[in-house]
Amino acid sequence: MNDNKPHAKLISAPDNILKTIYTACRTCYSADSPQNIFDNADDETKMLKLVKKVISSGHLSTIEHIQVSFAVSNISRSCSHQLVRHRHMSFSQKSQRYVKENQFEYLIPQTINSNEELKEKFVSFMEEISKTYNDFIEAGIPAEDARAVLPNACATSMIVSTNLRELIHVANLRLCSRAQTEIRLLIKAMCDELIAKEAWLKDYLVPKCETNGFCDEDKSCGRKSRLNLKEETE
Ligand SMILES: Cc1cc2nc3c(=O)[nH]c(=O)nc-3n(C[C@H](O)[C@H](O)[C@H](O)COP(=O)(O)OP(=O)(O)OC[C@H]3O[C@@H](n4cnc5c(N)ncnc54)[C@H](O)[C@@H]3O)c2cc1C
Repeated sequence: MNDNKPHAKLISAPDNILKTIYTACRTCYSADSPQNIFDNADDETKMLKLVKKVISSGHLSTIEHIQVSFAVSNISRSCSHQLVRHRHMSFSQKSQRYVKENQFEYLIPQTINSNEELKEKFVSFMEEISKTYNDFIEAGIPAEDARAVLPNACATSMIVSTNLRELIHVANLRLCSRAQTEIRLLIKAMCDELIAKEAWLKDYLVPKCETNGFCDEDKSCGRKSRLNLKEETE
């Protein structure tokens, strides 16, 4: 069912997320072997204390060892286009060359969806596009060319894999209220899935203002006070 919002499911993640990061941290500062550090790890509270200290020092290669994958669906092509700009993530996306979009699903932006008159206009335009697309397919045009008429709103699905460092970076950027609503909802859904497994990550999978302690956006939402570099240097 198309409920007009992004779906994200965590389909793969390591069992020992905290212990793996802890082992990476301790390996850098210990004469002991990584295997011994892993096998004789501290209790969770002590591991967490060290891991948080190392992350806050910026020693971030330690969290690159954690690789997670999400099954993502019901996002628009404009949302997927924004997502694939993140160069340290890996993607496998439904192809519009090999999969025909005869009855394509689409996402309606919230601002249009909340206005009955505009929503009707939007839906009727999608129907027109669908008809044109199907006319082209029936005329023998290959799907890879017929897709030229499909809209940004067309729904897509993909597998998204990332290491933890990149996921935190993407969360910092895309959970900001200045990011577009759809990608914000998608990244939130992905982060919520991982936080359900690894609760301590809730302190890191946050908008950048939470990490920075200030807002660096021109049009601030007011969640944190704005950093005004000009005023500060005067
Ligand atoms: C609110 C918002 C609005 C945006 N608007 C636009 C827009 O109008 N037009 C547009 O084209 N894009 C836009 N973008 C996309 C943006 O410019 C980035 O391409 C995208 O956010 C990927 O972020 P990134 O480069 O920080 O991170 P990633 O690609 O996720 O990489 C993570 C980090 O790795 C490092 N890195 C990766 N690749 C390189 C490299 N080649 N050289 C050096 N360091 C690298 C950087 O430190 C980078 O921050 C927007 C993004 C946001 C969040």
